[in-house]
Amino acid sequence: MINQKIKSDFPILNQKINGHDLVYLDNAATTQKPKVVIDTINDYYRKTNSNIHRGVHTLSQRATEHYENARTKIANFINSESEKEIIFVRGATEAINLVANSYVRPLLNQDDEIIVSQMEHHANIVPWQMICKEIGAKLIILPMNQKGELIVNELENIINKKTRFIAINHVSNSLGTVNSIEDIVRIAHENNIKILVDGAQAIQHIPINMEKINADFYCFSGHKIYAPSGIGILYGKKKLLDEMLPYQGGGDMIKSVTFEKTIYNDVPNKFEAGTPNISGAIALGAAIDYITNLGIKNIAKHETELLEYATEEINKINGVRIIGNAENKASVLSFVIDNVHPHDVGTIMDAEGVAIRAGNHCNQPVMDFYSIPATARASFAIYNTKEDVDKLIAAITKTIEVFR
Ligand code: PMP
Repeated sequence: MINQKIKSDFPILNQKINGHDLVYLDNAATTQKPKVVIDTINDYYRKTNSNIHRGVHTLSQRATEHYENARTKIANFINSESEKEIIFVRGATEAINLVANSYVRPLLNQDDEIIVSQMEHHANIVPWQMICKEIGAKLIILPMNQKGELIVNELENIINKKTRFIAINHVSNSLGTVNSIEDIVRIAHENNIKILVDGAQAIQHIPINMEKINADFYCFSGHKIYAPSGIGILYGKKKLLDEMLPYQGGGDMIKSVTFEKTIYNDVPNKFEAGTPNISGAIALGAAIDYITNLGIKNIAKHETELLEYATEEINKINGVRIIGNAENKASVLSFVIDNVHPHDVGTIMDAEGVAIRAGNHCNQPVMDFYSIPATARASFAIYNTKEDVDKLIAAITKTIEVFR
């Protein structure tokens, strides 16, 4: 059950900001951590801390077991075929850079094309742009409509013989649009093109089933799903991961090393060079347990109710415009207030204890599309309530009064 009690699982939420109870609505940037996750990190350093995979002593074996158990939990959570398809990385950004360098770069020739969409986070634009620039390839953009929905049919038209790869987000971090990712993956595969799905804004809000989505690669960051920062996941189909070469070398990713030659380890270790974020991985496992207990479908229902209620209430206020009106949205509500800069909106709201984000949300091409410099963005998580939405609406009304 998702109810008021959940707030008490998150110690940070129990504080006053500028004299008001904190209302945290910046969840698309990062989520807060439940006590079980904080305790897991604490316990790890009190009882288990040791380096993994190489040790014969008890602590090392215990740390290895917890780290590998976390991998299995994540594999089960996204219904991947095997835990060997789960690679621990620093976050979505590192996952995308890994695929760009280890999978796409070797395939890419001059004048080849990579498709991304109009609504990508910079993390799903820049790594592709970097390899395109190096090799003389081109970035092609799948357009969206004014509501902030991808024009999926257009994909068939822009795919051609030069298309080498597609990278698209599952849920937009500035618009909240849930893309029809299964259709996009199907079209990619009908054209024999591999695809990466950036799930950084999806994993915490909607059930993710890799068997159904069928993407070749899928990635997300732990810190957006109630786990610490510095840990994230790259899912990749085993066959592809087996074929790929690592782009970082170091300890643990090898079977043997001489000065003449190195034989790489098997997946997933091949892509985990050096000492990883062990406590982060284990804490991510604890976060996955926490939300599995709540039920991701219950989470989706709760957050949809909040989003719908907030949308309805904002639409009643004169002079406020929602940016992103897709039919299928998750948890993110971007808006602009006539004649008030979003940064001022954010500052006035902070004075009321309401934490939202103001800026371009690492989505400058989306801002350009709507010809605006920035938006104010409220984004919901499991611990938010209808009362939080009421405080958001009151803070918006107050902002308008201040600037009138
Ligand atoms: N993609 C999307 C859609 C995101 O929202 C974010 C984070 N804002 C990222 C990628 C990058 O995630 P990170 O900074 O955790 O690597």
